[in-house]
Amino acid sequence: MVSRKDLAVSLSRLKKFQNPKLMAEQYSTYPDVAADIIWHSYLSSEIEGKLVADFGAGTGILGIACLILGAKKVFFVEKDIEAIKTLKENIELVTEWGYAFEDNYEIMHLDVNDFTEKVDMVIENPPFGTKIKHADKKFLEKAFECSDLVYSFHKTSTEVFIKAISADFNYNVAQIFDFDYPLKKTHDHHKKEVEVIKVSCYKLVKIESNT
Ligand code: SAH
Repeated sequence: MVSRKDLAVSLSRLKKFQNPKLMAEQYSTYPDVAADIIWHSYLSSEIEGKLVADFGAGTGILGIACLILGAKKVFFVEKDIEAIKTLKENIELVTEWGYAFEDNYEIMHLDVNDFTEKVDMVIENPPFGTKIKHADKKFLEKAFECSDLVYSFHKTSTEVFIKAISADFNYNVAQIFDFDYPLKKTHDHHKKEVEVIKVSCYKLVKIESNT
């Protein structure tokens, strides 16, 4: 039986982006943040035995957390081949620690736009759209197409937009988890060594129609 602490420790031992790319806004979710969200979801019976898609999977921390907690299958969807290399290394690492995933995952070298499966849950920490405008919108729209349950990370400052687009697609903002995100200077364009930004994870649930 895995505890929240076991999960956080395992996630903290995963490899990060080797060579983070500016235009793709590649930042790994912090292990504690990932553990908080995925643990919450697990306790809400949303993970064990379920189909999960990890959009913009990067080095895989969110999807791997779901695998550790017993997801039936995780689709890792990522367009950057270098990130996928690290993701594969991370799955190998976790396997060395004794977790057996076998056929429980599929790594898809794809733009999220081209993903067509239906899943029980989408988890995503998409680009925040500061480099490529509306990148976050594209991820949300695709997530709504694929699942009735979506966990999505965004800058807290975009809350009004997230609420509006969710309402447009008939999704309820069921819960908001707030985090302070100290972003280290991984990219040259950042002037400060560490910049703290406020990030929220939104739990979005499709509103059932009675018709
Ligand atoms: N989910 C990971 C990585 C977040 S960074 C984590 O939580 O740590 C966002 C990731 O989305 C990057 O790896 C980037 O390469 C990927 N990405 C950006 N646009 C994408 C797109 N259109 N399709 C698939 N992946 C994309």
